[in-house]
Amino acid sequence: MDEALDFAQVCKDIEDHLVPYLRLGSGERAMYYHLLRHSRAEGKRVALISNRRLGSSFGTSSTTARFHLRHLAEKGCIRITDRSLAGHTLDVLLPHEIPGCLQPDSAPKLEHLASADCFHDRKLRPAILRRENNACFYCLRELRPESAAFDHVVPVSVGSDHSFRNVVACCFDCNSRKRNRPAAEFLRELYRTARLSDDELDARLIVLETLQSGQLVPAR
Ligand SMILES: [Zn+2]
Repeated sequence: MDEALDFAQVCKDIEDHLVPYLRLGSGERAMYYHLLRHSRAEGKRVALISNRRLGSSFGTSSTTARFHLRHLAEKGCIRITDRSLAGHTLDVLLPHEIPGCLQPDSAPKLEHLASADCFHDRKLRPAILRRENNACFYCLRELRPESAAFDHVVPVSVGSDHSFRNVVACCFDCNSRKRNRPAAEFLRELYRTARLSDDELDARLIVLETLQSGQLVPAR
């Protein structure tokens, strides 16, 4: 273990600052602790994660484990420095090494989002697009602000709302093909027509579930 690190303080920083600051979901939080265990807790900054053992060592399918890894990288908790058939080499960052994480009042002021109309309020659209990493929520095609449409994952016609849990950015093509169908049904059609791979379909269905549970807030 790295003697310079106070792990009791690190745990407090994770729970009090990192998790709310980056809105880590339970799976992301568990993966972050898992990676810390195999890097900083052993005095190493870098974790070597085998693709073959990734899922079994984390206790999920490898698709789910890779999904959490990708999200942690997108949120800046880890940096993937090398990727090969054998596995990933990861730089695991502590809360105080993540810009903005320990600043007072650094948690995003997103309370108003609970009631915000993310479909009609155009000011919120850039944040929705950033949350989608500038890619279509459904087919993952790259999106630019001028080529982005906005869609309800559960159609308004069946009583859904315009909240960030239900509004996503997508390409015009997906927007017109999906029509009033539920998002999961449309994602499966994209898979059947080879627009999404097996892994991509699994990952998109997990993202959809994460979105609807309220864990994917629009990115600042
Ligand atoms: Zn699309």
